[in-house]
Amino acid sequence: MKTPSKNTGRPERHARYRERHRTEIAARMRERRAKDPEAAKAYWRQWYESHPGYFRLRNIARRARLASAYGSFTEAEWQLKLAEHGHHCFYCGASGPLQADHMVPISRGGSNEISNIVPACKSCNARKGTKTTEEFLQRRAC
Ligand SMILES: [Zn+2]
Repeated sequence: MKTPSKNTGRPERHARYRERHRTEIAARMRERRAKDPEAAKAYWRQWYESHPGYFRLRNIARRARLASAYGSFTEAEWQLKLAEHGHHCFYCGASGPLQADHMVPISRGGSNEISNIVPACKSCNARKGTKTTEEFLQRRAC
């Protein structure tokens, strides 16, 4: 498989490129995955192995953002929120293990108050990523 461009040397320029060409890059990756899912899996496995600190660093950054985000919610508030939504994912209606999703992501200036939280299944929460609830629902609609 062709290896993607290496981001050695000019990380800032590379990040800007990725930001500008986000949808193209995502489309290319989707295509590649559809054509040869096994090779794509192998590629990512290798990528994770060669970037051992990646998720650890991301988690540390996330915890720091959470800690400095405005507000907090209690376990009781979370349970109440789950009950309000009938213990179903806000996005797809799935039941099962649910995660607290920030409608406006912390990384986009959202608060950590219960009013900014909805229950989401792991899959929806992962796909939503740093999109707002509105952006995520819009993308799903088309
Ligand atoms: Zn869901």
